[in-house]
Amino acid sequence: MIAVLRPGTPAEQQENLINWLQGMDLKVHISEGEFHTVLGLIGDTSRVDIDLLEGLEIVESVRRISEPYKKANRKFFPDDSVIDVSGVKIGKGHFVKIAGPCSVESEEQIILVAQKVKEAGANILRGGAFKPRTSPYDFQGLKADGIELLLKAKQATGLPIVSEIMNANHLPLFEDVDMIQVGARNMQNFELLKELGRTNKPILLKRGLANTLKELLMSAEYIMAGGNENVILCERGIRTFETYTRNTLDVSAVPSLKEMSHLPVIIDPSHACGHSRMVPSMAYAATACGADGLIIEVHNDPKNAMCDGAQSLTFEQFDKVSRKVDEIRKVIAE
Ligand code: PEP
Ligand code: MN
Repeated sequence: MIAVLRPGTPAEQQENLINWLQGMDLKVHISEGEFHTVLGLIGDTSRVDIDLLEGLEIVESVRRISEPYKKANRKFFPDDSVIDVSGVKIGKGHFVKIAGPCSVESEEQIILVAQKVKEAGANILRGGAFKPRTSPYDFQGLKADGIELLLKAKQATGLPIVSEIMNANHLPLFEDVDMIQVGARNMQNFELLKELGRTNKPILLKRGLANTLKELLMSAEYIMAGGNENVILCERGIRTFETYTRNTLDVSAVPSLKEMSHLPVIIDPSHACGHSRMVPSMAYAATACGADGLIIEVHNDPKNAMCDGAQSLTFEQFDKVSRKVDEIRKVIAE
């Protein structure tokens, strides 16, 4: 349930109302908008007499939120959220370019990629240390050593880093990782989501291969319900009957999620199409449709990459994409 207060409500009256609601065992989430203050009520709201609440002088309107996602709901928090990843803001006009290899392979590799993507305008470095591979015989990542190497690249370049977690027991290894990725395959690993809800790290939550947007938001809700509201949603292509591309990029996920939620939405064009030649056009589409950023795989030597070489851009290709994305952003801002 949300209660919208009248503009200019005195602080004392607002506080009295909040105390009264908390007295009914409800958690009250306050969001101060440009004009209105919105109180989000979480818990068993069946005890709240809507007519009584709505009749109060300081209350403009009261609405039940029928969707099962509350904290992630735009009705609950009408403004766009801005998530801060170690100084890099994402959302509400702040556009992020996350780039780097699918997997961290060596110190030389990750530092070189970090330097090159930074030069080309990336503001966060990606790199997988724990890799979710379809085959157990494929390269599984450098694991803890991979995280160490990412931290070296962070030190060398100043870029914040994002890496995927697959097991909550690994959380101590992610202490200095700036943003934690939950991959598509773990989008509904609810125990993992609950653990991440107990941290205060920004979480990059990728949409599952066959999950609806509502399910994605319910997964975000798991993290937020635990107290961590720093969630960034990522559309990375879904499984359809089409096999020409690795997945099918659902570009409409961006405007849809933005209607449904206040959380930032970014797009991963690399996993979406699986072919480097298609990544630029998908990145441009993502930018034009209002995404808050991109996460793109970039490799120093895509042909010899340990993982996902076919979809990885070279430095030159990423540089070109990055520039054109800036141009598109200028056009859509007009
Ligand atoms: C990745 O980012 O390398 C990855 C495995 O992504 P996804 O979970 O979207 O497949
Ligand atoms: Mn990959």
